[in-house]
Amino acid sequence: MTDPLRYPFDQAPEPGQRREVAPGVHWLNFPLPFALDHINLWLLEDGDGWTLVDTGFSSRHTQEIWRTAFQDALGGRPIHRIIVTHYHPDHIGQAGWLARQFQAPVWMTRGEWALTTQLHAASDQEIGDNFRAFFGRHGVPGDDLDALAGRGNTFRKILPELPPQPETLAAGDAVTVNGDTWRVHIGRGHAPEHICLYRERDQVLISGDQVLPKISSNLTVRALDPEDDPVTAFTDSLRALRDAMDEDTLVLPAHGLPFHGLHARVNDLCDHHREQLDAAEDACRQQPITAHDLLPVLFKRKLDSHQLMFAMGESIAHLNCLLATGRVTRQERDGRLYFSA
Ligand SMILES: [Zn+2]
Repeated sequence: MTDPLRYPFDQAPEPGQRREVAPGVHWLNFPLPFALDHINLWLLEDGDGWTLVDTGFSSRHTQEIWRTAFQDALGGRPIHRIIVTHYHPDHIGQAGWLARQFQAPVWMTRGEWALTTQLHAASDQEIGDNFRAFFGRHGVPGDDLDALAGRGNTFRKILPELPPQPETLAAGDAVTVNGDTWRVHIGRGHAPEHICLYRERDQVLISGDQVLPKISSNLTVRALDPEDDPVTAFTDSLRALRDAMDEDTLVLPAHGLPFHGLHARVNDLCDHHREQLDAAEDACRQQPITAHDLLPVLFKRKLDSHQLMFAMGESIAHLNCLLATGRVTRQERDGRLYFSA
């Protein structure tokens, strides 16, 4: 099948450099120490300085690149404001450090900040106990459960410095940058209250992780909120984004290349989740299964312990969606949750 998306730029800028992708909008590319090996940050011309959207992963290596960028990409001009799309460590990672460097305020939604502080404050013991209870009920067997519970508070480990108390952004807010209005749209499902910024004047969308060109954003149910239904939240908020925006919008995602084809991409992502839901319902029709039993249906590759956590979150997410829409029922047996259609 041919890719319905069009990519106007075939190459990311070098780390520390910038590339202008729309008037006053510049692309920065930072490495990540994961399989997902990079993140895009967006630098908006703002008076005699910059507004920055997202900040990169918290590591010494990222800070080295930032120091190069201060001269190269930023041209020695200051960051006046830092907008963090959502709480994930590759987005919020350097917000605290950059805020200190430039005495710049950080802007986030209330929902993202609440989850950031809640996750950051939890003790290793608390996280371990929550994981053991939550993933155990969803069928993760002994050794894997020990590995998951033994990870402790990995969020705080990879995000040692929190930004200062942010200023709050909410749905519909207008952020004025260099006289232009960027409208705040909220994405849900991947994160509780994810900021997407849309410049109506020339249809430019900074989409963060809410809309990515090649991969489907991870949707997870967290131990803290076990009945959550992020699949419905994600697909509903994606359709709202699609319906609010022009088909020809230039989408600036946090991972992958900028693209045109928002409507096609949203439709593909919604189709993908519908197929996953159908496959999950089919599996529940054969016999009652746990979220752990569902993994090989949803994921064709073998999973290590880090991937297992995300995969379990995604598996529970699809079962919770089926449950919320009345397509499956749930029974508890011997301390485990079984779903049947
Ligand atoms: Zn994310």
